[in-house]
Amino acid sequence: MDDLKYGARDKRGDWKPNGRIEGAPLLNWPPRLPKILAWLPGYIWPWNAFHMATALLYWFYIVPSVETMKTISWGWALWLYAVNAAAILVFYGIFELRYYIKRAQATRFKYNHKFPADAPSDVFWFQSQNLDNFLRSFFVTIPLWTLVEVIFLWCFANGYVPWVGWTDHPVYLAALVLVAPAIHEVHFFFIHRLIHWGPLYRWIHSVHHNSINPSPWSSLSMHPVEGFLYHAVAFWHLIIPSNPIVALFQLHVAGFGAVNGHLGFDKLEVTEDTAVNSHAYTHYLHHKYFEVNYGGDGLIPLDRWFGTWHDGTREGDAMMDARFQKKKERMNAKAAANH
Ligand SMILES: [Zn+2]
Ligand SMILES: [Zn+2]
Repeated sequence: MDDLKYGARDKRGDWKPNGRIEGAPLLNWPPRLPKILAWLPGYIWPWNAFHMATALLYWFYIVPSVETMKTISWGWALWLYAVNAAAILVFYGIFELRYYIKRAQATRFKYNHKFPADAPSDVFWFQSQNLDNFLRSFFVTIPLWTLVEVIFLWCFANGYVPWVGWTDHPVYLAALVLVAPAIHEVHFFFIHRLIHWGPLYRWIHSVHHNSINPSPWSSLSMHPVEGFLYHAVAFWHLIIPSNPIVALFQLHVAGFGAVNGHLGFDKLEVTEDTAVNSHAYTHYLHHKYFEVNYGGDGLIPLDRWFGTWHDGTREGDAMMDARFQKKKERMNAKAAANH
């Protein structure tokens, strides 16, 4: 596909999309139904539908019996870890293999013209972003994802929390499924904003930000504290009356869905003239500029409300620069006052 129909490439070879990033029109005022209806299919297909499909597959084929889950044991915990790790190896691996190893799309629609494999750096284990990100994902973050999973399944199995049945409350649960990505957005925004606070950033979140040019393995490359808090989003279903399938869906929106922000390409070409939108640009800008777009892709416009939204345009740049300038002035004034 000709990516210059959809965006522009600068002298360095970095590509950026035309126009501005549109957040979801849900909370725009006045509400416009046609716009919401036009947005809805892209909300469900393909990413959230995929997360629901994997949640169902897990529930019917992977998750052990309720009887087994009443007692926490290494057996089923390790089984869930093995499946989670294998699933991520395959799912993220498909993107890694096609777009980063085979480079099937070269740099078409690629925000940063460089590939991490071509840029060794001392910030990473073994100087390799790929190896560092891969090891952290599989040996730090996915075990913590599994820990969260084991805890909530154990709570449901023992009846410690309400278990809402699909036959009793299908409409309520369907609505909860539709709302789950918004729960993710709010949860992620606030924990993410928190770990951007100086001391916590240096201790915890800088690990994830080592990847300025993220690729699929960067998605779950986190410090253990972040790896746990990020997946702990599923615990909301121990507070809100829910069902383990919905909790699994919530967990998969986090675990599998993390790849969206780190694909590095705006569109993934499927055939000669069809492509899937990655929704990656918002979070790509976060990795590039650090202090913008703390949320996901703007489903709930928290960044807009807090003044940290970058919509990918020149005005977005100007707003960000003005904010950084103000911050600098504040810090200088503080330093002067201390002398
Ligand atoms: Zn990230
Ligand atoms: Zn961050």
